[in-house]
Amino acid sequence: MLEIRYEMTQHKKDKPDTKNLGFGVYYTDHMFVIDHTEGIGWHDARIVPYAPLQLDPAAMALHYAMESFEGLKAYRQPDGSVRLFRPEKNGERMINTNHRMCLPALPAEDFVQAVKALVKTEEDWVPSEEGTSLYIRPFVIATEPHLGVRPSKTHQFYIICSPVGAYYSTGINPVKIFVEDEYTRATPGGTGFTKCGGNYAASLISQVKAHDLGYEQTLWLDGVQHKYVEEVGSMNCFFKIDGTIYTAPCVGTVLPGVTRMSCIELLKKWGYTVSEERLAIEDVMKASRDGKLEEVFGTGTAAVISPVGELRYEDEVAFINGGEIGELTHRLYDTITGIQWGKLPDDMGWTTAVC
Ligand SMILES: *Cc1c(COP(=O)(O)O)cnc(C)c1O
Repeated sequence: MLEIRYEMTQHKKDKPDTKNLGFGVYYTDHMFVIDHTEGIGWHDARIVPYAPLQLDPAAMALHYAMESFEGLKAYRQPDGSVRLFRPEKNGERMINTNHRMCLPALPAEDFVQAVKALVKTEEDWVPSEEGTSLYIRPFVIATEPHLGVRPSKTHQFYIICSPVGAYYSTGINPVKIFVEDEYTRATPGGTGFTKCGGNYAASLISQVKAHDLGYEQTLWLDGVQHKYVEEVGSMNCFFKIDGTIYTAPCVGTVLPGVTRMSCIELLKKWGYTVSEERLAIEDVMKASRDGKLEEVFGTGTAAVISPVGELRYEDEVAFINGGEIGELTHRLYDTITGIQWGKLPDDMGWTTAVC
């Protein structure tokens, strides 16, 4: 149990128009902070006014990307209460990430306690407009001023919150995806399974390239053979081929998404066969030629489910389900969002009350 000190802001911000929130544009009045010092551990948990950080310019996070993050959401329920979706999974994942990055991690219970304490403080920032939520961004940075390369002796863990709009304000439109065969996102033994900023920094160039070619996102192939499908943009990726659902195994190069895990659990409950064997892009394109590539979608906290309408691999283009959202994609979307916003009963026991 953390003992949290509260320092409330004297200047509450005006709330934004909840019809035009966008993603990551507005931030709430307070943030959670806790310090970590080598030899002492975590100390001084506090909720303080949201403000710019004071960091030494030599802070190690700024030079060697010694940082990691998480992402989850709080959802306004029909009765006005607020719930989180599987927050302990984010806490557990951050422990795995931070171990790989030589960063200290909070115990998962303390992580969840901190998230709940901040969301409760910011309760009036949780929007209630259809499809909106409060995005929660926990992160750790190495703060020691030191230019030699080694683990830092001091760190800070923060949580900030941002009210976000409906991801699909104009309806769910399937995206056009470019299969990346030049750059790679992750390799065995690397950091692909972690949520670290460096992974994103290194993958931006492919997103820029995809945009220049008229595509919305990149589909990543494995970094060794450029043969097997792994992720789509910063989402996990699912393929429905001839009735079977395929998604890449979480073997170190794939981020173990909470949405991915939830989809797999639902699909199995509904009686589908889910294969976590590696799937070659050649087999995806062949399935398309044979008329067996039924649905493709990405999964992640921000969009929940993002249908793919078109895949370009080298000179070949696969059109999926006539550019329409597939039936199973739709069912997963409706079920998961229904549970998150409390419109469906939480049979799976996935949500947790905050206030
Ligand atoms: C965060 C993330 C995901 C999705 O994870 P969720 O827990 O479902 O939000 C997928 N891939 C990458 C690379 C990510 O960073």
